[in-house]
Amino acid sequence: MSHLFLRTLRDDPADAEVPSHKLLVRAGYVRRIAPGIYSWLPLGLKVLRQVERVVREEMNNIGAQEISLPALLPREPYETSNRWTEYGAGLFRLQDRKGNDLLLGPTHEELFALTVKGEYNSYKDFPVTLYQVQTKYRDEERPRAGILRGREFVMKDSYSFDLTDEGLTQSYKAHRDAYERIFARLGVKYVIVSATSGAMGGSASEEFLAESEVGEDTYVRCVESGYAANVEAVKTLAPAPIPFDGLPEAVVHDTPDTPTIDSLVEASRQILGRDVDASETLKNILVKVRQPGGEWELVGIGIPGDREVDDKRLEASFEPAEVALLDETDFAANPFLVKGYIGPKALLANGVRYLVDPRVVDGTSWITGADENGKHVFGLVAGRDFVADGTVEAAEVRDGDPSPDGAGPLVSARGIEIGHVFQLGRKYTDAFAVDVLNENGKPVRPTMGSYGVGVSRLVAVIAEQQHDEKGLRWPAEVAPFDVHVVIANKDEQARTGAENLVEELSNAGLDVLFDDRKASPGVKFKDSELLGMPLVVVVGRGFADGNVELRNRITGESNEVPVGEAVRVIL
Ligand code: ATP
Ligand code: MG
Ligand code: MG
Ligand code: MG
Repeated sequence: MSHLFLRTLRDDPADAEVPSHKLLVRAGYVRRIAPGIYSWLPLGLKVLRQVERVVREEMNNIGAQEISLPALLPREPYETSNRWTEYGAGLFRLQDRKGNDLLLGPTHEELFALTVKGEYNSYKDFPVTLYQVQTKYRDEERPRAGILRGREFVMKDSYSFDLTDEGLTQSYKAHRDAYERIFARLGVKYVIVSATSGAMGGSASEEFLAESEVGEDTYVRCVESGYAANVEAVKTLAPAPIPFDGLPEAVVHDTPDTPTIDSLVEASRQILGRDVDASETLKNILVKVRQPGGEWELVGIGIPGDREVDDKRLEASFEPAEVALLDETDFAANPFLVKGYIGPKALLANGVRYLVDPRVVDGTSWITGADENGKHVFGLVAGRDFVADGTVEAAEVRDGDPSPDGAGPLVSARGIEIGHVFQLGRKYTDAFAVDVLNENGKPVRPTMGSYGVGVSRLVAVIAEQQHDEKGLRWPAEVAPFDVHVVIANKDEQARTGAENLVEELSNAGLDVLFDDRKASPGVKFKDSELLGMPLVVVVGRGFADGNVELRNRITGESNEVPVGEAVRVIL
């Protein structure tokens, strides 16, 4: 430590609010350059490298291959995907000397799709998963808490390419499992929650949230069922995906009068050409309704799962109508039917003005609305996301609201997003026409997953979850050093004894931080607590009797051992 490029600070930095930020600055791990822009000093860089190592090991374990793409990127691919516009002010844009537009990559779906397109052209090449550990740039509206929300930060981003939906499901699962191993090894307490798709577009998506009061994400959890979701997602959470495979195209079935459960079953039976029961029908049927002789004007969906629905309720929701199964095209053409979900905004956008019949059945909110002419439409919302005061307006889910799966009440808590797994689908392979040839020489389009881990953020998250009032407390897997040896004895023999101990520990393969400074024991102990190595060995007063003291920074336990046995005990 007499040579280490390190200055610890006694006072908290003025701009720091959360503990991890204060401690990482005070302990000399990071230094601020500008809002959301930080330097890594030796100890901080060592932790960052440790997190990267764990992430790389687990990514390599699932067969992902590391590559590295530039952070400085041309505008064109992002123009093609429309993200040059969609990303808005969050994108760092610049121009080169010739006036060409460039950007600093905030995430790399475009470039990975193009990279695979450039190299692969046969089904034999798939599946493939690529990743990088790379610096990302986002002009965050509120950079915060030091490296927790930076404008420059390190992310591990990976991208899977599969030819089938089952393949994508497997790649997604592999990543999800790898993330569980990563966060377990890093000693992070976390929950996995359903997430919205955000700017990336696509369908199945989950977030890993580190449990923390200083987190910016609020999630809700149902203790009874284990259901958990980001509150952002509860608003738009879709019921179970509706299978389109094997459905005939928009077969119309006329119902004689008001649809009943029986008539829906009958319609499904005719369309599917086999027997169906009511719960199956209600799970899978997509219904399109029109007034007799009128235009198709209402779109409804089947009910996800066995809901308490009876004919009366159905009757209240429908005018006399025809019922049809919709095919995927119809689905896409109906802007207010979003993956089996009709949201209040969509209802509003489609002329619904009055909420006439809100109710919660098994945790699912039903909305029956009417437009200005008194015509009924109905929607189905997972979770409670409207206020029943005559307007249909989205509202956040709250503590005590029923869980969408009906199992019990929701409890809310806060978290920090540390990972995100995402079944993207073909959004980017479509945008860049990534086609490869199948067994029969026909072009097929790969489907993508994208998966991120906040590598630099994790350094702050671990510090946030593992500290006390005295300082940091690194878990062994990520600590900058395995052992911190402190000389707290002016005696020349004690110094030699400490030096020998450091050498033996190093020879045994441990990474040792040696406080050989000419400072007082008090200063050294304070620093050792602030810096937070998991094990501190004090060569102090007891050395005269042949003993050293082992202090466990995590448990706070300390005990004396004979110096000759120290290495064995530590190992
Ligand atoms: P957040 O909701 O916190 O803004 P995000 O959803 O925008 O994160 P993703 O696009 O999913 O982030 O990126 C993958 C991971 O990168 C996130 O799960 C997070 O851990 C990390 N990350 C995102 N933004 C930042 C940032 N500004 N600073 C540090 N890490 C970040
Ligand atoms: Mg963000
Ligand atoms: Mg997020
Ligand atoms: Mg995210």
